[in-house]
Amino acid sequence: MKTTLQIEVKKTDHSRIHETDFDNLVFGKVISDHMFVADYVNGEWTDLRIEPYAPLSLNPANATLHYGQSIFEGMKAYKNDNGEILLFRADANQKRLNESAARMCIPELPEEIFMEGLLQLLDLDRNWIPNKPGYSLYIRPFIFATDDYIGVKPSEKYKFMIFTCPVGHYYSKPVAVKVEQHYTRAVEGGTGAAKAAGNYAASLYPALLAQRQGYEQLLWTDGKTHQFIEESGTMNVMFIINNTLITAPTHTGTILKGITRDSVLKIARDWGMQVEERFLSVEELEKAIQQNTLQEAFGTGTAATIAQIYKINIYGTDYVLPSKPADAFSYRVLETLDNIKYGKEEDSRGWII
Ligand code: PMP
Repeated sequence: MKTTLQIEVKKTDHSRIHETDFDNLVFGKVISDHMFVADYVNGEWTDLRIEPYAPLSLNPANATLHYGQSIFEGMKAYKNDNGEILLFRADANQKRLNESAARMCIPELPEEIFMEGLLQLLDLDRNWIPNKPGYSLYIRPFIFATDDYIGVKPSEKYKFMIFTCPVGHYYSKPVAVKVEQHYTRAVEGGTGAAKAAGNYAASLYPALLAQRQGYEQLLWTDGKTHQFIEESGTMNVMFIINNTLITAPTHTGTILKGITRDSVLKIARDWGMQVEERFLSVEELEKAIQQNTLQEAFGTGTAATIAQIYKINIYGTDYVLPSKPADAFSYRVLETLDNIKYGKEEDSRGWII
């Protein structure tokens, strides 16, 4: 991308890369040397810079700390066998960040600032991107309010930042999930479709209750009736019943429009699979399990790409799902997505930068 943006770069004089144990990376704990920063002041994004990763100093009256006007994204960069950096569908993350911004009254961030800031940051910290199979660099772009004012109103000032974390091979072991009957993640008219900080805060307590009972995640249901499945933790969920791939639609604004979700659906359709974006009721799911027509259940998201679901608790009854054949759709789509992300398969859909 040709750019006229001025990004000031201040490099660290003490790289931490040699102190980092790349064989024992804990997700989100190890942060690369630099971060990209831009400030929104007087109605425009200014002062674009890359600087050493360092703590921020915040006024206790910082608006984000009180009212949570804060949004984020999550994406990954990979290295191919030639050491080139590959970004998977970064344009989709950029668009989604601005959709979240609109809902949370945060000013739009120009695409050029997002992309150019990201590319320059990755270029500078390229040695932090592991080139081991399955490893990647997790990227965390985010925007938060920076007014020092505790009146409840949209902030006038914001910060956009990107930092990155090298992450090891993320294999999700199959997960047990529980259908949530009481708590609600999102309702129509709410903020469920935004990647807004508060959505995650609100999900922690119900998820903790489920974890205490031995389930890794909740299967969130609709806020009105709790009868229709929406998504799970930080993943969208998909079911294959009678050879049809079923996942919740996104038009209600209660579900995060996952980029992995969209990618899996596109591949499924390309492979000629029957796909239905519609609400699946808990009752229909339970019947499918009982009648042995549920073939696969899995989550989709950036962290794991595909997480297999092996057990579902429905209104108090545990159902352990039968094991899948080696050529199951979820295994094949995971392999295809991994191959595209690591440059091992032709990127016919134009997903890689
Ligand atoms: N739902 C929620 C609530 C999430 O936080 C995520 C992770 N971003 C997803 C679904 C999956 O989205 P993606 O495939 O873009 O990572």
